[in-house]
Amino acid sequence: MSDKPIPQPGILDIAAYVPGKSGLPGSNAVKLSSNESPLGASPKAIEAFTAAATKLDIYPEGSSKILRTALGEVHGINPDLIVCGNGSDDLLHLLAQCYLGDGDEAIMSRYGFSVYPIITKAAGADIVMVDEDDYTADVDALLAAVRPKTKIVWLANPNNPTGTYLPDREIRRLHAGLRPDILLVIDNAYAEYVTAPDFAVGTDLVKSAQNVVMVRTFSKMGLAAVRIGWIFGPARVIDAINRVRGPFNVNLPAQMAGAAATRDTEFTAKLKAHNAQWRDWITAELSGNHMHVVPSQANFVMVLFPDAEHAGLAFDTLLERGLIVREIGGSYGIPHGLRISIGSEQAMRGVVGILKALVQIA
Ligand SMILES: *Cc1c(COP(=O)(O)O)cnc(C)c1O
Repeated sequence: MSDKPIPQPGILDIAAYVPGKSGLPGSNAVKLSSNESPLGASPKAIEAFTAAATKLDIYPEGSSKILRTALGEVHGINPDLIVCGNGSDDLLHLLAQCYLGDGDEAIMSRYGFSVYPIITKAAGADIVMVDEDDYTADVDALLAAVRPKTKIVWLANPNNPTGTYLPDREIRRLHAGLRPDILLVIDNAYAEYVTAPDFAVGTDLVKSAQNVVMVRTFSKMGLAAVRIGWIFGPARVIDAINRVRGPFNVNLPAQMAGAAATRDTEFTAKLKAHNAQWRDWITAELSGNHMHVVPSQANFVMVLFPDAEHAGLAFDTLLERGLIVREIGGSYGIPHGLRISIGSEQAMRGVVGILKALVQIA
């Protein structure tokens, strides 16, 4: 018997998530480190959030019905097959808890989202990391890693921190190669920003299969502070998640703001257009110049430098000039890279000016 409480096996092997750096309180630093919205939140969402301030004493409706109804209408899906969560992290944890246990395995690609190993190990299972093809998920390698113990495949599409994506035909090929008892989790956190014509969100695949769920978030479209995510999946998965989720896991201001943001498709379109313009621009400006910008479909770009030292120098110089970007060495294993969120025109011009000048000196 131990003389103190001991966490479950695997918990102490988890390296805690490292969030993007924030500015010091009161500083004017521009945060380009967490892929938040370049244009703030939808004005309609802010209005709805504010209106909820008069109702803080009452429990929210527990199933997020207002929000699910809005999502169902705008995305053309059955609201009964949606579960909302306190950020999509909430739902990713629940998926792991429901479908993984001791001795099971979950598969992800090497530079996939750094939350997947955490939630997999927290559920007592092992994470299997699969090599990528030029910073892009490799379907053949993912399929080759499947074993009898495999229960989940985690796939961010587009992926964070690389910004790369798999086209619809590759997602379908991946799904077709999986056993029916393996859950394919398609994390479309950046779906609102994708412009590639051969991309598809997971909706249609979810509708046609029993082992696929699509995970979405409001965090990258202006509501990161409010914490809202949602999943769309087959009835059996939705039922399982609903049994274990917190009974009031999405607070009332979040439900109201999320519903208003969902219906404000004009704002979502504005975000997408701004992002595409400045994503293309920064990619073109920085490419060459001893930097490689990996083509991105998200609201950030991953910039690769000749080595970790150059990436560190670029990070420090940007920071000195009030521009905070994301280092991706420790948590993602890409020490010669930086992840830079798409921000305002001014922020993008600032980043490009500084990095180009830096490379000339180097
Ligand atoms: C940002 C992000 C999320 C969203 O997390 P929230 O908990 O909804 O803020 C999920 N998956 C990926 C790949 C992300 O980059």
